[in-house]
Amino acid sequence: MVVDNDCIFCKIIAGKVPSQRIAENDSLIVIKDIAPKTSIHYLIIPKKHIVNIQFLAKEDISLAGDIFLMAKELASQLSGSQAFRLVSNNGADSGQKVFHLHIHFLAGKHLSDF
Ligand code: 5GP
Ligand code: ZN
Repeated sequence: MVVDNDCIFCKIIAGKVPSQRIAENDSLIVIKDIAPKTSIHYLIIPKKHIVNIQFLAKEDISLAGDIFLMAKELASQLSGSQAFRLVSNNGADSGQKVFHLHIHFLAGKHLSDF
């Protein structure tokens, strides 16, 4: 597994930094965001250290699919509305602050327009 020892998400995946885990499978973990922007704000994080979508390789194609299927699974477990939004910041100018690929899963009532 590709790991960056200075990366906060790699440390969370390794269990060296605590997090609230929502789900896990062979390729991904899902945790609660430490600073939620909506009532439900999860982060879908590949276990493999990939900087962002710009660094995805052909060999990551099944991982990319796993992310969408995980989003579907998370939505099916919501009580009430199963509506959700996925957001991925790619590059500092987009607002990316953690340089380990992650997809924000946002749900709950009244998501604001953006
Ligand atoms: P970005 O701005 O890179 O797209 O999003 C990074 C996200 O990671 C932010 O929403 C931030 O709150 C979250 N985050 C940063 N550090 C931690 C952490 O140590 N634990 C958890 N659970 N979330 C974190
Ligand atoms: Zn990492």
